[in-house]
Amino acid sequence: MALELCVLGCGSATPTTRFNPTAQLLEIRNHYFLIDCGENTQVELRRRRLRFSKINHIFISHLHGDHYFGLIGLLSSFHLLDRTQPLHIHGPADLQEIIALQLRVSQTKLRFPLHFHHTQDNGPAVVFEDDKVVVTSFPLKHSIATTGFLFQEKLADRKINSDNVRAFQVPIYALNGLKKGRDYEDEQGNIIPNAELTLPPPPPLSYAFCSDTAYSEKNTELLAGVNLLYHESTFLEVDQALAKKTKHSTSTDAARFAKKINAQHLLIGHYSVRYDDLQLFEKEAKTIFENTKSARDGHTYHLDNNKQLTVKVPTR
Ligand SMILES: [Zn+2]
Repeated sequence: MALELCVLGCGSATPTTRFNPTAQLLEIRNHYFLIDCGENTQVELRRRRLRFSKINHIFISHLHGDHYFGLIGLLSSFHLLDRTQPLHIHGPADLQEIIALQLRVSQTKLRFPLHFHHTQDNGPAVVFEDDKVVVTSFPLKHSIATTGFLFQEKLADRKINSDNVRAFQVPIYALNGLKKGRDYEDEQGNIIPNAELTLPPPPPLSYAFCSDTAYSEKNTELLAGVNLLYHESTFLEVDQALAKKTKHSTSTDAARFAKKINAQHLLIGHYSVRYDDLQLFEKEAKTIFENTKSARDGHTYHLDNNKQLTVKVPTR
């Protein structure tokens, strides 16, 4: 299995021609999870030719506009495109009221079921789970209620070792049991151990999204060893005082946290528009945490089974 994260917006505060405010699309085990939805998200989804009709879950970290002002536009487009598939939004309780008001005054009755799931900022909580993936929200340290989200793959079924299955003449009806780890008993009563007939699944991968936050160690245990960590990095270290005042992080804070939780890869973003040279963010973070990449709009970060991270750069 692998996971793929397309950054749709790596900027903060106001949209500019340089970059969009926060939004990301995470593809994990056939789920397309939209994380935050700043202005221009739907345009960026189109530009990157991402199939946004496949998005069934949207996770909103908090109600500063640069993280959700694109949401009503996206919902409206889903409606106009005749979506019928239910959509789930996971976010602060007030978001439901905001969206309800916007729909009411425009007299829009959505053609698809919209389900809200309220997040809490008083501790980690599982907000989505199926047989493949579990998503946990966790509180961050920002100026208003804010949560991050941890996306974890579940351990997949064992893989059939076709050569050995053929050699032992295992019937097809027994294959499902093998995938679940059961041994096989043949007609003569011989037990063939599961390990002879299957191969182990790849290790599950994880992605943590740390939205707007000051440096905080309260999620250290939950996020320990995460494969890919996104951590906001609004400021450079020279503006540490400003970061503290606005409850944001510097590139150094992000790197310190990645090191603290022993993450494998760090992706930084949410840059303030005050800086011209974005290279400085990565350079600064790398002095503390070498495996750092600085996010760019439209870039896709692919994490493979061997936990290697590669970047796909758009051609346009
Ligand atoms: Zn914020």
